Amino acid sequence: MREGCGAERRIAAWRRERPRPQFSDSAGYVGFANLPNQVHRKSVKKGFEFTLMVVGESGLGKSTLINSLFLTDLYPERYIPGAAEKIERTVQIEASTVEIEERGVKLRLTVVDTPGYGDAINSQDCFKTIIHYIDNQFERYLHDESGLNRRHIIDNRVHCCFYFISPFGHGLKPLDVEFMKALHGKVNIVPVIAKADTLTLKERERLKRRASIPFAVIGSNQLIEVKGKKIRGRLYPWGVVEVENPEHNDFLKLRTMLVTHMQDLQEVTQDLHYENFRSERLKRTGKPVEEEVVDKDRILQQKEAELRRMQEMIAQMQAQMRMKPGDD
Ligand code: GDP
Repeated sequence: MREGCGAERRIAAWRRERPRPQFSDSAGYVGFANLPNQVHRKSVKKGFEFTLMVVGESGLGKSTLINSLFLTDLYPERYIPGAAEKIERTVQIEASTVEIEERGVKLRLTVVDTPGYGDAINSQDCFKTIIHYIDNQFERYLHDESGLNRRHIIDNRVHCCFYFISPFGHGLKPLDVEFMKALHGKVNIVPVIAKADTLTLKERERLKRRASIPFAVIGSNQLIEVKGKKIRGRLYPWGVVEVENPEHNDFLKLRTMLVTHMQDLQEVTQDLHYENFRSERLKRTGKPVEEEVVDKDRILQQKEAELRRMQEMIAQMQAQMRMKPGDD
């Protein structure tokens, strides 16, 4: 796993180059600085930690959407494998962290990407790696929570997962259904229809109905000038599709949902998914993690004492060997 690789360099570059978010209400911008007041005050002091996972076949526009959502460039050095490589490819997990600040509210955002998802010919096992990653973060949290320094735990649990549905099929694929069945008890899944600009209005409505009304979104990293204003959009021979235009797609709705429900998504993660994990684990091992830690400490102390005794014995033997018969 390449965790946060090159992150510092990326954050610095992003701070220099990112287009500044607009806060004016007329632009309809809802940033995380608009969190409710109580949360806002808490977040100003503590900072806000949020982990978002993105899952979907490669090429569906995941990175572009994430970059559009957070006005950042999370994947500047991305390597895109060819078809031959993809056949044998397994899912990888790549986590990148950026720190974003808006009106004094700090957000430590971790985006967990899952390249390789659905690429292999046999994609049956491809969400095992994802389940393993989510469980590992719960396990880390559980361990930290039962340790001494409980006040400063870094929360790396996955709070939300954007699941990208292809706009090119006739609805959900078997893999989409399998994934959602396997993971809905572990993470908050938000299905999104990617590249919604490739669908006509009728096609979009039909796909939404077949797939539980997900957000139909588009993404773009390009700024285009429209009527004297620079906007994010996709330029086609027949016109411009605007990312932040609610008549063109659900991008703004998706961002508003994410931003206004960040706290809820964290609470559901804590109260439902994490609690599920804790009780399952308790059933499996039969003891709470606190006891396991105590047990581990005791074993460690016994081993250390044993090691000390052996070292003393060796030292004694060496001393005896040095005292040859002729020496005394
Ligand atoms: P990823 O592999 O899922 O991360 O996909 P990328 O973000 O790298 O996008 C793959 C290709 O799709 C790129 O050529 C993007 O410019 C294009 N793309 C991204 N978002 C959209 C979109 O909303 N609509 C359309 N038509 N193309 C998009």
